[in-house]
Amino acid sequence: MEKQLRLSDFLPTTKKECELRGWDELDVILFSADAYVDHPSFGAAVIGRTLEAAGYRVAIVPQPDWHGDFRDFKKLGKPRLFFGIAPGCMDSMVNKYTANKRLRSEDAYSPDGRHDCRPEYPTIVYTKILKSIYPDVPVALGGIEASMRRITHYDYWQDKLMRCILCDSGADIIIYGMGEKPIIELSNQLAEGKDINSIHDIPQTVYLTKAEDIPGGIDEEKDIVLFSHEECLRNKKAQASNVRHLEEESNKMHAQRLIQEVDGKCAVVNPPYPPMTTEELDASFDLPYTRVPHPKYKGKRIPAYEMIKFSVNIHRGCFGGCAFCTISAHQGKFITCRSKESIIKEVKKVIEMPDFKGYLSDLGGPSANMYGMHGRNPKACEKCKRPSCIHPQICPNLDTDHSKLIDLYRAVDALPGIKKSFIGSGVRYDLLLHKSKDEKANQAAREYTRELIKNHVSGRLKVAPEHTSDRVLHLMRKPPFSQFGEFKAIFDRINREEGLNQQIIPYFISSHPGCREEDMAELAVMTKKLDFHLEQVQDFTPTPMTISTETWYTGYDPYTLEPVESVKTPREKLAQRQFFFWYKPEERAGIERELRRIGRPDLIPQLYDHAPAPYNSNSANKYGAKKKDGKNGESWKREGGKQGSWKQEGRQSSRKQDSWKQDSWKQEGKGYEGYKFEGKKKSFNPNFDTNNHRTRGSKPSQTSNKTTQYGSKPSQTGNNKKRNRRDY
Ligand code: SF4
Repeated sequence: MEKQLRLSDFLPTTKKECELRGWDELDVILFSADAYVDHPSFGAAVIGRTLEAAGYRVAIVPQPDWHGDFRDFKKLGKPRLFFGIAPGCMDSMVNKYTANKRLRSEDAYSPDGRHDCRPEYPTIVYTKILKSIYPDVPVALGGIEASMRRITHYDYWQDKLMRCILCDSGADIIIYGMGEKPIIELSNQLAEGKDINSIHDIPQTVYLTKAEDIPGGIDEEKDIVLFSHEECLRNKKAQASNVRHLEEESNKMHAQRLIQEVDGKCAVVNPPYPPMTTEELDASFDLPYTRVPHPKYKGKRIPAYEMIKFSVNIHRGCFGGCAFCTISAHQGKFITCRSKESIIKEVKKVIEMPDFKGYLSDLGGPSANMYGMHGRNPKACEKCKRPSCIHPQICPNLDTDHSKLIDLYRAVDALPGIKKSFIGSGVRYDLLLHKSKDEKANQAAREYTRELIKNHVSGRLKVAPEHTSDRVLHLMRKPPFSQFGEFKAIFDRINREEGLNQQIIPYFISSHPGCREEDMAELAVMTKKLDFHLEQVQDFTPTPMTISTETWYTGYDPYTLEPVESVKTPREKLAQRQFFFWYKPEERAGIERELRRIGRPDLIPQLYDHAPAPYNSNSANKYGAKKKDGKNGESWKREGGKQGSWKQEGRQSSRKQDSWKQDSWKQEGKGYEGYKFEGKKKSFNPNFDTNNHRTRGSKPSQTSNKTTQYGSKPSQTGNNKKRNRRDY
């Protein structure tokens, strides 16, 4: 039975809503640059609900107008304790611009996808306004934008190094990472009457102070003194080295304090809290979220909410350590799982939603299959400095047992009202291929693989090999490409055995540090051999403070300080990107030209037959199509409007859905030997028909060229051990 929601079921956003709760004064006022969606995936809601549960009177002002007389900043008056800034689930610049610095088609976290609901750098803009109106009220920063700008960092959009964001904003403190514990401690200390300038002992916070005021002084043994901001401006190696320390200390069980001098003061980064316990995480997810946008939006579409409204997050943390991902510096590598009971409780709430049709869109987390995984010997983990538990090899101490996850999937699927639970998060296939010394874990991995493919794929399983060059993959901290082939062979075989016709959709990135045009040319050849017409691709976006970003900016690997080359100009980036689309006729001439320019004409016959490129004249090309009005590619016919089905003379794309040529993997691009799938067709996703074609009215995939809140797409890492495929 659908529960009728009242305005007072939401955190108040106006004076009137405060009065509904009988509040004439607020303890904390949060300013959010995202729309207020009362859901555990939205940061402002999590912090607001956490404070409410601790007995604080809290309100949220979502997307305040930062122009004119600042009435949105004044309408609730002055809080008793502090203002909190929640700049959004994504860095505002990543949210607004593409890798080529073009405006994205919409703002995923605003009603109707509108772009005019938030400023650039809301952390800075909101704080400056608040400090100008209420100079004596403390301002605390949170969210990805402040967390990932907590020391000197490269800003891609301004193309320069920027200081700790406390300097530019004028705020008093940053809470970095997941904020439930530090926000309560900060509120408690302020409620006790402490001055914000004296609060220096809360883990997972950053503050600015004079060197002589640092509690306990600077201890060369216990603290890590980073290169100063000024030194980083002079010396790129210093910047690279700093970011290595930041990543390491974000991923240690017992981290050290980081201190960086900036503008004559010190930015002090206190070590993070230990990972939350299951009970603590359950308590956060069990808060009384309504799980819907505030009624003020009157049913307007908030794109990010539409994507997650039927999904459930099962854990925090990720031990992949992908170099381009923000998560290692935000949530860290240790996994905290929700209990099965808490997850089931949330799934039941989803089932009760009026428009839920029985299909959970995701039962996952930062990655799909790390639930329940941890180090076997906790003492070894306590001393560990590795940023990744699975790169360059899977740590022998890591327990890769998938049993708990299988059990969870089956418990969810057994609920009345659930027709299918899909896994939309990125599957770490290296964990599935890993041969552990523990045979029980190996058996569970095989069972999980079949369970996943048979019951939890919505027609298309997204995985992230990210590249085909092992050298680039190593810089990304991803497993060798051969593992993707190995997994694909297993995927194909299980589909065949189960009478399914599902696809693997691989994600790739161009222009990552260390990636040369030649690597992209080889990627094109490899994906042609695999018969992939790529859809899910992106150009590398240097999001703040990732290892890849600092490598891209400084030109050095932060761990080895060895030089790494990167392409920087739009021309170079586009030259790399075009290789993704070797199958598009309009790209052929450019690709052939580039291959000759870089001295790899030998790859041309591997991509195209020997007929000349179709754009050299206005006459009919080899596929029988003519250029129209002298513009390349205009007259190419697209069949059914779907990608990868360009009609070519005498043959259709070999990627026909009903005879999808699957292949047995052969190493080193020596080719794929296909088999033809002739089995039953089946798709459980209501957005796809039985041929896995999108159904009328369903929306196209939104993931292409879009960076997630963690800065990138999900990913895999691991070693290159061979397995007996027949085990699965
Ligand atoms: S599992 Fe291995 S790599 Fe991961 S934290 Fe423990 S010891 Fe370190």
